Amino acid sequence: MKKALIVVDVQNDFVEGGSLECKGGKEVAKNIKRMLDSDKLKNEYSLIISTQDWHKGDRHSNGGHISASPDYIDTWPTHCIANTKGADFAEPLIATDFDHLMLKGYGSPSYSGFSKNAYEKENKSLSLQEILKTENITSVDIVGIAFDYCVAQTAKDASKEGLNVRVLKYLTATINQENENLIRNELTDLEIEVID
Ligand SMILES: [Zn+2]
Repeated sequence: MKKALIVVDVQNDFVEGGSLECKGGKEVAKNIKRMLDSDKLKNEYSLIISTQDWHKGDRHSNGGHISASPDYIDTWPTHCIANTKGADFAEPLIATDFDHLMLKGYGSPSYSGFSKNAYEKENKSLSLQEILKTENITSVDIVGIAFDYCVAQTAKDASKEGLNVRVLKYLTATINQENENLIRNELTDLEIEVID
C-alpha cells in the first residue's frame, strides 16, 4: 500500500493576520512542519503534495468566488492572489517541503485539489489524479486549511477516486466552527476516517 500526504492550502491569507484568517492556522502550519521533518513521516508517505489556492488579481471575481461584500459561505474577501505574499506558504512551510505543488482556483472557484482547474505548478498538464495514479498511491492522508471547505472537498473527491482517505483533523483548522459536526458526518458517511 503506497500512501501520500496532501497538505491543503496552508497559506498566509488563511492563517492569523491573513485576509481570510482561520483561527489556529499558524499552529497547524508549525505542527505540519514538525511532522514533515520527522523520520516517521518519511517512512510512512511515498509522496508529499501541497495545494495552494491561486486566484487571478484583485480586479477579478474569479467566477464570483471573491466579492466586496462576501457572505463567507460562497463568496469570500480577496485572498490568495497568485504570486503574492498572501498566497505563499505560511511559515515555517516552504515549497521544497513538497514533491508536487498543485495550484487551484485561477479564474474560477475550486475548493478541491482534484478540481478540473487544478494543475501542477511545474508541469501544468499534470492533475492530482494523474500524479497519484503514476505513483500507484492507494491511500491518502489529508491535512491543512480549512477543514470545512478545501480539506473536506479534497477528501470527498479523493474518496470518489477510489482512494482510502483519512483526514488528520488535529492538523487542520476550521473557518466556520458551526460547520464542524455536519462536515464530520458527511466525511464519515463516505467512509473517510476523521482522526482527532
Ligand atoms: Zn479561494
